[in-house]
Amino acid sequence: FMSTQIRNFCIIAHIDHGKSTLADRLLEVTGTVSTREMKSQLLDDLELERQRGITIKARSVTMRFKRNGQDYELNLIDTPGHVDFQYEVSRSLACCEGALLLVDAFQGVEAQTVANAFAAMEHDLTIIPVINKIDLTHARPDEVAEEMMNSLGTDPDECVRVSAKTGQGVDGLIDTIIEHVPDPGGDPKAKLQAMVFDSNYDDFRGAITYVRIRQGTVRKGQKIRFLRAGTEHEVVELGQFTPQRQSRDSLSAGQVGYLICNIKSLSDVHIGDTVSVPGDNPAEPLPGYDRPKRMVYCGLFPSDGQDFSELRDALERLSINDPSFEFEPETSDALGFGFRCGFLGLLHMEIIQQRLENEADIDLVQTAPNVTYEITDKRGEVHEIHKPQDVPDPGDIEEFRQPIVRCNVIVPDDFIGPVMKLCQERRGIQKSQEYLAAGRAMLTYDIPLAEVVYDLHDKIKSCTRGYGTLDYEMVGYEPADLVRMDILVNGKRVDALSIVCNRADADRRGRAVAKRLKKEIERHMFEVAVQAAIGSRVIARETVPAMRKNVTAKCYGGDITRKRKLLQKQKEGKKRMKAIGNVEISQKAFMAVLSDS
Ligand code: GDP
Ligand code: MG
Repeated sequence: FMSTQIRNFCIIAHIDHGKSTLADRLLEVTGTVSTREMKSQLLDDLELERQRGITIKARSVTMRFKRNGQDYELNLIDTPGHVDFQYEVSRSLACCEGALLLVDAFQGVEAQTVANAFAAMEHDLTIIPVINKIDLTHARPDEVAEEMMNSLGTDPDECVRVSAKTGQGVDGLIDTIIEHVPDPGGDPKAKLQAMVFDSNYDDFRGAITYVRIRQGTVRKGQKIRFLRAGTEHEVVELGQFTPQRQSRDSLSAGQVGYLICNIKSLSDVHIGDTVSVPGDNPAEPLPGYDRPKRMVYCGLFPSDGQDFSELRDALERLSINDPSFEFEPETSDALGFGFRCGFLGLLHMEIIQQRLENEADIDLVQTAPNVTYEITDKRGEVHEIHKPQDVPDPGDIEEFRQPIVRCNVIVPDDFIGPVMKLCQERRGIQKSQEYLAAGRAMLTYDIPLAEVVYDLHDKIKSCTRGYGTLDYEMVGYEPADLVRMDILVNGKRVDALSIVCNRADADRRGRAVAKRLKKEIERHMFEVAVQAAIGSRVIARETVPAMRKNVTAKCYGGDITRKRKLLQKQKEGKKRMKAIGNVEISQKAFMAVLSDS
């Protein structure tokens, strides 16, 4: 394929505006996948993605298409739409020349529409505005085209109107892609220069490296060099995703595909690395990607200490497929050996935890998530804090800083009041308020990340009846009056239960947490005291009275199988428990410190 016949593009949109469905239609219309083989959202093949109906990992797929007697190769890169995965979106953008900016004909422009469109503009992509779901009876494509013009500067006459569901307009969209997305350029005879934009692990083939060829040609059987890793390998297979792997003899400038090089460990493949020829005279390295920023940390501990090495293996496998996730060993007095893990956001954290439980079958105890803090101590040294128990005692702190994010919330104007109230309660500072169209406003606030990560998105959804949308980006660290609050169980500090909170909230939070813990801790044969403290000052206390219910007592008499079942159930319930001294604490209790009011 000559590069003039290649088009590389992605679809960017707010979640649920129809990216995956449009990808399905494109695969079908180009005959890449027959209607019979078609199952919906074909690119979302991770089990978890299907369960939750969202796209987590970016996928690429190659489509062949004939137009006016000319063959074209269309490479589509599907991107995730959730705020937590902005990093993957940006990786996809770097491999494309064009982006379909998809907007739901009823919902209109949303927070991530704006965020993704600006990201695409930063990468200098040609943007094709597309209005989807025109089949809906309440579709309002003319108004949506105007909203897009006001917020994104797109020309209403250039908006392509489609229904990804019925296929209406999709043929015309392919014509627009071929006419308007620039060809990728590059010279197939030049020295090989390719960008690694993703990788995954296949149990039989080892590491599969996803590449976009910038210059030159890579052939089956040749040797290649990863410039940043400094390693050399033989290409045993290469090809493209159609969407299943299809091997080819070569890939050249402009093409997107995969390499298999007998690489046994995914840690040898770096996302953002450049592939070139072996030896001392390779091509220039391409600019890599920005490292993704971990915004949220939590501890993961195996319920059963025996599972520690199994957990480590499972985390390693995950981090290979998902370089935005990071982990390091952590030891807790309360929970034993485990790992401190860094995530892009809360959804990301939830997904990793579920994957671990599904794929590795390990029961986990997870500690309450926290953001990264910065502390300058009395000696003027700066510390980056990833876990509350590392916060020094109050007397050693000169300045305590927390991350602040700029939040864009897009809402119908009936809901401006409730959203402003919510943002103020979360210590937000309003930056601006604009109208995108009659009746739709964009509010911008600077809010501490800690106030955003836990549940701001859900809260905005519920106070706007689902119509409000949120996106945020990091602004920087700012000083705040924060304290470390500890929890003591029978006088013993439980390190994994410490949290960081505002001094002004500490008394209220302390009382709430002690109350919640009292509910979550089962009765023991003895009394259990739960206290919240700042430094040596106790701010709240609750007592769990003694005595423990005997679960088998209520079925005295003959039914032995029933009794066994109950005992078994009790045993399973215990798995997720941890003993603190002689007090057993459940997984739920470790999350209880998050409970607010
Ligand atoms: P994504 O989150 O952007 O990937 O969105 P999906 O492709 O998963 O679509 C979200 C929902 O919108 C699904 O229930 C789709 O069936 C529906 N949908 C997508 N495109 C259309 C369309 O053109 N018309 C209608 N009526 N529904 C659509
Ligand atoms: Mg999707």
